Amino acid sequence: MIANRPKALLTALDSWYRRHARNLPWRVGPGARDKGKKPDPYLVWLSEVMLQQTTIPHAAPYFLAFKARWPKVKDLAAASWEDVSAAWAGLGYYSRARNLHVCAKLVSERGGFPQDAEGLRELPGVGPYTAAAIAAIAFDEKVAPVDGNIERVMSRVRAVGSDGTEAGWRRAKIEIGARTQELFDALPETQRAGDLAQALMDLGATVCTPKKPNCLICPLAKMCAARAEGDPERYPVKAAKKERPVRYGSAFVAVRGSEVLLVRRPASGLLGGMMMPPGSEWRETKPKDALKGAPLKLTWAHVGEVRHAFTHFALKLDVYRAEAPAQAKVAGEWMPAKDALAALPTVGRKAVLLAVGGHAGVTARRLVS
Ligand code: SF4
Repeated sequence: MIANRPKALLTALDSWYRRHARNLPWRVGPGARDKGKKPDPYLVWLSEVMLQQTTIPHAAPYFLAFKARWPKVKDLAAASWEDVSAAWAGLGYYSRARNLHVCAKLVSERGGFPQDAEGLRELPGVGPYTAAAIAAIAFDEKVAPVDGNIERVMSRVRAVGSDGTEAGWRRAKIEIGARTQELFDALPETQRAGDLAQALMDLGATVCTPKKPNCLICPLAKMCAARAEGDPERYPVKAAKKERPVRYGSAFVAVRGSEVLLVRRPASGLLGGMMMPPGSEWRETKPKDALKGAPLKLTWAHVGEVRHAFTHFALKLDVYRAEAPAQAKVAGEWMPAKDALAALPTVGRKAVLLAVGGHAGVTARRLVS
């Protein structure tokens, strides 16, 4: 049996992180930290919110664009919602953009971010994981942010699995969280909590991967219980995922020359406050009259279906297209298609691209270029 040796684990992780830390646009690496450079809590917060439910390669360009346009939290607080939501388009989970903007205003008013996880939890859109990640990375609080990577590494190092049921996996997660916190509690004064958090994240992302973990080059190999058992890939044993329910709806893309008609969705709810083509409600059964809710009495042509996966359901959206006369009066905003494609959330962009691309003689490429 492998002994529980937090000090040895901490030393091995620290030395590995100093040599192998990933170079990420929001990160202050261990060398720069040694020289006294401190992470900017605004940038740590921004990156953590963007990285919720998305990958680093997808989030990085958004992070750089936000940082260039709104370098301080007060700049983001002063921005209009229209600008923030348009800049967020494509990152998904639009309630996060709404919370981001509200949070920036709040933090700007109070003169800075709270400096511990407890205070950070009070901010809009900041849950327990995000609060712990910001507290550890920006303020070196000894609090464990257990993301998917850390969860996998720690479940293997300590051989914490489950019986594959939801209740079993819930118990395992609590155990993994407690074992990770033990490591943070054992940190000596010479090691930073932010470095430990990011070392575990990097190890999970680059060495202790979900499939075929590279134990041969792992700094924790001699201390890893799952490796000693002989089959580390079997950890963590998560509960089987439930299939997402399907919802159905229609999107109506009215085209007037090179413009398309968009409406702003209500502030609350899914895609709250974002621009979208007009559409029907999204229901659990396919609507009998798919054209119900079309914004104008036009000749609507069915151009196809787009599919989009939200967290809790999969959406199948029938897309209709119609030419609108120049004098058409309708609630909403006519927007050049290329601007619309930049401002729309992904599902809206898919619908407009499908409608515009289906128009004889006008390709999506021509309209977006
Ligand atoms: S030894 Fe293997 S299983 Fe254990 S932490 Fe390292 S890579 Fe993961």
